[in-house]
Amino acid sequence: MIGLISATAAGATARDRLAAAWPGRVRVYEGPVREAVERAFAECDALVCFLATGATVRLLAPLLADKASDPGVVCVDEGVRFAVSLLGGHGGGANALTEEVADVLGCTPVVTTATDAVSVPGLDTLGLPVEGAVAAVGRAILDGEPVALRADARWPLPAFPPNVTDAPDACDVTLHLTDRLLELGPRDAVLRPKSLVVGVGASKDAPVEEVLGLIEDALADAGLSPLSVAELATVDAKAQEPGIVGAASRLGVPLTTYASQELASVSVPNPSDAPLAAVGTPSVAEAAALAGGGELVVPKRKSAPEGRAAMATCAIVRRAPRGRLAVVGLGPGARDLLTPRAKDELRRASVLVGLDQYVDQIRDLLRPGTTVLESGLGAEEERARTAVAEAREGHAVALIGSGDAGVYAMASPALAEAADDIDVVGVPGVTAALAAAAILGAPLGHDHVSISLSDLHTPWEVIERRVRAAAEADIVVTFYNPRSRGRDWQLPKALGILATHRAPHTPVGVVRNASRPDESSRLSTLGALDPATVDMMTVVTVGNTATREIAGRMVTPRGYRWQSATGEAK
Ligand code: SAH
Repeated sequence: MIGLISATAAGATARDRLAAAWPGRVRVYEGPVREAVERAFAECDALVCFLATGATVRLLAPLLADKASDPGVVCVDEGVRFAVSLLGGHGGGANALTEEVADVLGCTPVVTTATDAVSVPGLDTLGLPVEGAVAAVGRAILDGEPVALRADARWPLPAFPPNVTDAPDACDVTLHLTDRLLELGPRDAVLRPKSLVVGVGASKDAPVEEVLGLIEDALADAGLSPLSVAELATVDAKAQEPGIVGAASRLGVPLTTYASQELASVSVPNPSDAPLAAVGTPSVAEAAALAGGGELVVPKRKSAPEGRAAMATCAIVRRAPRGRLAVVGLGPGARDLLTPRAKDELRRASVLVGLDQYVDQIRDLLRPGTTVLESGLGAEEERARTAVAEAREGHAVALIGSGDAGVYAMASPALAEAADDIDVVGVPGVTAALAAAAILGAPLGHDHVSISLSDLHTPWEVIERRVRAAAEADIVVTFYNPRSRGRDWQLPKALGILATHRAPHTPVGVVRNASRPDESSRLSTLGALDPATVDMMTVVTVGNTATREIAGRMVTPRGYRWQSATGEAK
């Protein structure tokens, strides 16, 4: 919950705008400001104060406890010119919230956290637990000091700047990436990868303390960090077992459960008869830990309560890291049509793969140190293979494409290449048909298709059959790849097929370079369009029999009965 606090009428107006934009997400704290801030600070994950920073600092000072638990605080001035991330930039989420508040209120976000301001990942923003001299190591990374990166394995992390290397000479600052417990020096920090799976078995009503104690002892004896535990795993029949559920929640990790037949098929070093009789598998702890793959690092061990029989077992598996492939659509061109999620993925990557002209479009967004693998037109299959190969190596890869990367673009060749040994994340983008439609008016108000007229990879007969089907079904059609120097007869041919079912006055919208600096668009008709004016930077949208030009805009009605502007049916 986000607490909103204001003192004056101007502040309250801005506060109400935010409250209206985020129903259910915010709570307004009225009354005297000091008490309002105190209550919100105790009850909320974050605060937005429509107050001067000075006043806010004085009100907050006596309440501050610690960076890990204090809520994030954002200040908005009463003139609504700036949203300032005041407190808890990373841990409290104030930097991200500042951007969101600025977006809603139309003011300038002010973020002063050094790592965000200079585009270097803050160690506490990588999505992994981090311990040790976090601030000192973060500072060293930022200051360009040589920093040694010592990783047990390659995890898909964002790019670090070039002063962070795995082959440093004489560095006294070290960033470790390991699940092992280490002696840390005064300038060492350690990132904890989520590499460990703890398989757990427990008899009915085993106490949480017994299960948790067993897990903690097993980790400690093996020299492993509890912060690296990704999940607990057990058999379906124990999904509600309070001791196991409680241990997972105390460790702050999810509990995964498997069917007993599935566990019975996992080969384990220490099977036994007891679980076979009770739940139908000769192993719970070892089998559940191993079911998702990995290497057994702690074989089954039992709890050792004083004066009675053991009620819990556990085993620990280390899973190999998986690389990550993000397939990211950049939108049609304009920066403000690049989604925030796409931006985040570009900054999350350590390797970027794409066509050189698209890389140029977003180069300024990449973190320093990002490896850029760009290639020229045509090399699609090779780009797809490169991206997948890099992800397989364990990197965080972003494969980019214009518009939506899944529409006549890189997603399919990449996923055809990828096996289930990498994680894949898709980020949708605004495809050319949508960007063009918004410029033309509302041509896609009813059923519509996209058809690519490129017959380089698709036989013309197939394309023609699809155009004919769209013509017969009276569907609005957007042509991608409509015409190039070497392919000039396909567009007139396709328009001719549509004309056998649509009148010559049917509106046709032509949009070139939608949302790019030299954008142009025009509205023509099926009878009048000169195909020679169309090129590869263009999409062509042909209306259905109900599509009309209204006030210079192309409009396809939503229903089958056409309503005029005055509401009467025509
Ligand atoms: N993945 C892209 C499409 C790639 S196919 C997307 O989703 O938009 C390439 C074709 O897309 C071009 O020949 C052109 O027809 C169309 N196109 C891509 N971007 C465009 C833009 N900004 N304006 C107009 N057409 C565009």
